[in-house]
Amino acid sequence: MDPSRLRDLPSVDRLATSIAKAVLQERREELLGGARDDADLVARAAERLRPSLRRVVNATGVIVHTNLGRALLSDDARAAVLRAATGYANLELDLGDGRRGSRHDHVEGLLRELTGAEGAMVVNNCAAAVLLAAASLAGDGREIVVSRGQLIEIGGSFRIPDVVTQSGAALREVGTTNRTRLRDFAAALGERTGAILRAHPSNFRAVGFVEDVSIEALCGLGVPVIDDVGSGVLADDVPLLAEEPSVRRSVRAGAALVCFSGDKLLGGPQAGVLVGTADAVAAAKRHPLARALRIDKLSLAALEATLALYRDPERARREIPVLAMLEADPAVLRARAERLAGVLGGEVVDAVAKVGGGALPLLELAGPVARLSHPAPDRL
Ligand SMILES: *Cc1c(COP(=O)(O)O)cnc(C)c1O
Repeated sequence: MDPSRLRDLPSVDRLATSIAKAVLQERREELLGGARDDADLVARAAERLRPSLRRVVNATGVIVHTNLGRALLSDDARAAVLRAATGYANLELDLGDGRRGSRHDHVEGLLRELTGAEGAMVVNNCAAAVLLAAASLAGDGREIVVSRGQLIEIGGSFRIPDVVTQSGAALREVGTTNRTRLRDFAAALGERTGAILRAHPSNFRAVGFVEDVSIEALCGLGVPVIDDVGSGVLADDVPLLAEEPSVRRSVRAGAALVCFSGDKLLGGPQAGVLVGTADAVAAAKRHPLARALRIDKLSLAALEATLALYRDPERARREIPVLAMLEADPAVLRARAERLAGVLGGEVVDAVAKVGGGALPLLELAGPVARLSHPAPDRL
């Protein structure tokens, strides 16, 4: 250790005074507001020294847990974030001709290569992607046609009817909660139609007397289709994910804009990806909302590195933590559970895990877990 680093520590006075001031000010306001409790101000001061956003142990058995930060990044993605954070970067500079470039360029080629789409862009998250898609294809007051079975809420108050309204488009509902047919869509199309929106019911399933329309049939109607597939499965070869909509399939069907998340099953950073036809992507890039919804450079760096791993599907499955966890070897899981139970005190029992992130809500991943016998597991 370099002893000169000790000199960089703040003085006791400076540190203690700034924290004491903040804690005392807060307490003063509480007392003036009529507080009667006994507050432990020393404990509060200690708490202030801890970062608010901190590491936790995910012992929930949910792989993509929204409250715990969703996907963990691969080694490559982490290294890319570090590079982008610690030096200047060609974020919006074309190194070829020295002119201003576009931040979308860093991933557009990769996304086209991986999905087969003509164009691509990325924004802050998938909610933003859907809003931008709706605004750019129908935000001038034209209609967006949606099945009543897909007027869904994803969580965090992201509701399809509200998003369509906020985009400036008019919502045109067709069909019923459980059954919508191609002719329901066809009958609603006309001069005022801007687009059809399909939204994947990510976190629930309707079973029984149900019917909906395939993406191929929707695209055959001849109006632009926005396909919100939610999770963004690019790993078509992972059998567990077969029930989730594939991005490539929607592109092949001819969807104008396919929207998906960066940090669900894709296994990257928070981001919203739009891929689709050249015209639709160009319209989305031109829309004024695109600037307000843009992705930041750290997420962009992580996304580029994550997408690059998908060029080799085998490597993606090994190195992207979400995919590796989904396909973890049962023997490895058992050995880990036994080690944990041995060290922490407990036993190995069978239980089920979930995918999470609003994907595959019915899938149960059976496997071994360590059941701890410690009286205060939080202290572990
Ligand atoms: C999760 C989800 C969204 C929102 O994605 P974020 O990246 O969390 O903004 C939108 N649509 C569908 C269908 C989803 O599953």
